[in-house]
Amino acid sequence: MLNSDKLINLRQTYLSPSMSLSYNEPLNIVKGKGQFLYDLNGKKYLDCVNNIQHVGHCHPKVVEASYKQSKILNTNTRYLNSLIIEYAKELTDTLPEGLDVCFFTNSGSEANDLALRIARYITQSKETIILEDAYHGNLTSLIEISPYKYNGKGGDGPPKFVHTIPRPDNFRGKYRGNNTGDKYANEVKKIVKKIQNDRNTFPVFFVEPLMGCAGQLIFPNGFLKQAFDIVRKAGGVCIADEIQIGFGRVGSHFWGFESEEVIPDIVTMGKSMGNGHPLSAVITTKEIADSFNNGMEYFNSFGGNPVSCSVGKAVLSVIKTEGLQENAKVSGAYLFKKLSDLKSKHKLIGDVRGRGLFIGIELIKGDDLSPATVEANQIINKMKDIGILLSTDGPDQNVIKIKPPMVFTIENANHLFESIDKLIELL
Ligand code: PMP
Repeated sequence: MLNSDKLINLRQTYLSPSMSLSYNEPLNIVKGKGQFLYDLNGKKYLDCVNNIQHVGHCHPKVVEASYKQSKILNTNTRYLNSLIIEYAKELTDTLPEGLDVCFFTNSGSEANDLALRIARYITQSKETIILEDAYHGNLTSLIEISPYKYNGKGGDGPPKFVHTIPRPDNFRGKYRGNNTGDKYANEVKKIVKKIQNDRNTFPVFFVEPLMGCAGQLIFPNGFLKQAFDIVRKAGGVCIADEIQIGFGRVGSHFWGFESEEVIPDIVTMGKSMGNGHPLSAVITTKEIADSFNNGMEYFNSFGGNPVSCSVGKAVLSVIKTEGLQENAKVSGAYLFKKLSDLKSKHKLIGDVRGRGLFIGIELIKGDDLSPATVEANQIINKMKDIGILLSTDGPDQNVIKIKPPMVFTIENANHLFESIDKLIELL
């Protein structure tokens, strides 16, 4: 196997320079098992960041499902096949009644693009409401609704039909402290009115019910519920992007939107759905799916193929048989409490927030809460050196993201928080 220096050189030759590597000294990872990754020298890392490998790296049941089905048949959705039906039923059984009709796709971006197309078609409106700092994918249509990208390096702002709500953040957002849900919901009301007055049309609301790339953001109480009500009253459509947060990660519920007490019209899912296999979906109501069915065929070469469906079924089965949603609830709550306790000890920790195994630590400096971006970067690089993988995110890259494979244990949580505690002490 090639060493890191050689691989870095070859990447520079053969891969696009737009693709980034994590950490100041990139890792050369050659093996994964459960919640651990191993580098070329056999060094073991506790993985606290790879949410895609949801049920653990290289889970034997998922690998077996892919291998077994690959030997039998892999085609497309133009033939009858029971696997896709079984999988669609198992998936929709996890969702509230009414969200019953599936489209299968291959990436989160592809699912979100289709959801956007459906919503815009059925409302006959392009006017889209999104939240500041949101990320919804890498396709052209999604960069347009992702402030995380269009406001970042190389971005050139939103198109006219995209309307941004200030980041609903009661720690460092436009409105702070308790009871800010109403104030942020009022921002949605203002935009909806503007869409009605200026364009005389319907809003499409695209939202991640707990925001990942925006910095593990949990909304102020009541915000999302009110926002959904406002959009629906205006005849609009609400789309929940569950790509980072779904499949039991929030612990208390299987889906993030359930923990916010809303029911979307369209749900998108991906990432963890195939444990690393490219698998994603759009799920909606029969009424919406029927309205979208205007004669133009929806065909996808890979989406919904028998191998992908076998993998997806295996992931759902492992979540259930290994009690991973419950594990996310218990080990997530334990880690959350331990990290929250560190807040009173270290001034650098401004906010700890999260649900289940979806947690963020926001680092700040001084009374004006300025973002501790440099320190956050130092911490994740030093943690990497001692064998713990984390990442930073949020508009200021000052939020340490924790979203490990769902097999993460209390022992792993102790190792993580004890190490962060010691490291901040020495910073
Ligand atoms: N939506 C959200 C919330 C995401 O976090 C991501 C990926 N980070 C995407 C969409 C895009 O998914 P993919 O990379 O599979 O296209």
